[in-house]
Amino acid sequence: MRKKELDLVFAPEVAFDAAQLEHEILKSARVNPEEIKYIHRVKRSIDARGRQVLVRVRADVYLDNPPADIISPTYTYLDVSNAKQIVIVGAGPAGLFAALRCIELGLKPVVLERGKDVRSRRRDLAAINKEHTVNPDSNYCFGEGGAGTYSDGKLYTRSKKRGDLQRILQILVQHGATPDILFDAHPHIGTNKLPKIIEAIRETVRAAGGEVHFDKRVSDFILKNEEMCGVVTSDGETYLGESVILATGHSARDIFELLHAKGITVEAKPFAMGVRVEHQQSLIDSIQYKCEDRGAYLPASSYALVHQTHYEGKQRGIFSFCMCPGGFIVPSATAPGEVVVNGMSPSRRDSKFSNSGIVVAIELEDMELDKYGPLAGLRMQQELEQKACEMAGGTQAAPAQLLKDFTEKRVSKTLLDTSYQPGLVSVDINKLFPEHIAYRLREGFKAFGTKMRGYLSNEAQIVGVESRTSSPVRVPRDRETLEHTHVKRLYPCGEGAGYAGGIVSAAMDGERCAEMAAIKAGITVL
Ligand SMILES: Cc1cc2nc3c(=O)[nH]c(=O)nc-3n(C[C@H](O)[C@H](O)[C@H](O)COP(=O)(O)OP(=O)(O)OC[C@H]3O[C@@H](n4cnc5c(N)ncnc54)[C@H](O)[C@@H]3O)c2cc1C
Repeated sequence: MRKKELDLVFAPEVAFDAAQLEHEILKSARVNPEEIKYIHRVKRSIDARGRQVLVRVRADVYLDNPPADIISPTYTYLDVSNAKQIVIVGAGPAGLFAALRCIELGLKPVVLERGKDVRSRRRDLAAINKEHTVNPDSNYCFGEGGAGTYSDGKLYTRSKKRGDLQRILQILVQHGATPDILFDAHPHIGTNKLPKIIEAIRETVRAAGGEVHFDKRVSDFILKNEEMCGVVTSDGETYLGESVILATGHSARDIFELLHAKGITVEAKPFAMGVRVEHQQSLIDSIQYKCEDRGAYLPASSYALVHQTHYEGKQRGIFSFCMCPGGFIVPSATAPGEVVVNGMSPSRRDSKFSNSGIVVAIELEDMELDKYGPLAGLRMQQELEQKACEMAGGTQAAPAQLLKDFTEKRVSKTLLDTSYQPGLVSVDINKLFPEHIAYRLREGFKAFGTKMRGYLSNEAQIVGVESRTSSPVRVPRDRETLEHTHVKRLYPCGEGAGYAGGIVSAAMDGERCAEMAAIKAGITVL
């Protein structure tokens, strides 16, 4: 195979302009353009370490036809309308990618989603922001596409399974995502583009004979001799299948409670808890890119921070989480009487704000296991979310404090302009948390202020609570077969089961669960 591997460095205005980039790659290859069969753009990453921000580009120029897997493949979904049925609960990334994989493997997915389709869901998000009304079945976490739809759409994962990751990105591109996500080191889609992609995935499932039902909240399981046969929805309908893939996400507290009540093992799991910090994006750009103005080509800059804290002899990490450059803080509660914050960004990441979760690791020994058993983490989350709501007046307005005021335990006289639509109420956030969390947050912010000069100031504010970082409950499963450890034909899947964190890893887990359910149904998976 004749190919030239190129490692190139460009100014942002070249690297982020498709035509100029192609021109420069061709020039650098130093071959007759007619000889070139294919240019594979392998990776684009920003290098902001020096005085001037550079963009590193890796490209392979093929002088022979490239291997088939280099050119983004098109996956085919054949008719499964008469095939064996798999019930999938939840239409988040895990559930939707499980459905697509079922179809590829010759199984008919029946997807049951408690929320509404992606378009109708928008009205419920507006009601949260404007009228402070939270619909417990349709909100920023529940509804078609799950928690991943109205998000930043970051597509990073710590998973090392590169092939699997690439497959997920390719399927997203097949359903309308920009091919740049295959190339960028830190790809993201943006909340304005995600709904169309989710709709396209739904249409693929339906066109192949799969079913996707909305307004179908699963409220009971049909069990026979410790085998899962199907589910019952709140309107009394039953759905039977070869297996049930349970992909209900980390906010489906009623599902964790149902599993526990029915004696299906669940376990408490460590998670993280904290606040969202909001800065002006221009300030973060000036720190990260060392410039006054990032210009028209560089994307809004981000950061990743971590610090170890010690309190009463216990060490816990505090870290930034799910950063949304050029984004918005959004109200992500799933029930009235709670305040929860998270972040999302549009594809251009062009809001004037930057926000990031700053969260403290919560270990099992930090929870009231004696009192609440395996649901102890869930109760801890719930109590803090309810307290946040109470402290801010009982609506979706969120408790907030200027950042330096927080580290100095002073209630802020005024707050800053914010992207959080329901509004902010000034409180001492130190009083929201138990001291072991508040102390670690104060120490963490002080440390971050020394790592990024200008970060710790009253030009930034914190908003509470960032509590839905990952699932506080694990639904245990066999390492090999992925079946629940005690209940056969039940596949706990995705973030809610405690085996994924983020859109891409949830999607990959959905695919794996579908494969295991297929093997159980007697299908050979290659
Ligand atoms: C505002 C926000 C921004 C985020 N930004 C990013 C990001 O940029 N990048 C990233 O990687 N991750 C992000 N995340 C996290 C990411 O969305 C989740 O990790 C991912 O969606 C988990 O996928 P999942 O399919 O396991 O669960 P979910 O996406 O939570 O989907 C679960 C689905 O199950 C449904 N469901 C729940 N209970 C029932 C029931 N009883 N019956 C029927 N259906 C039910 C829910 O309605 C939901 O649609 C963000 C999350 C939020 C809230």
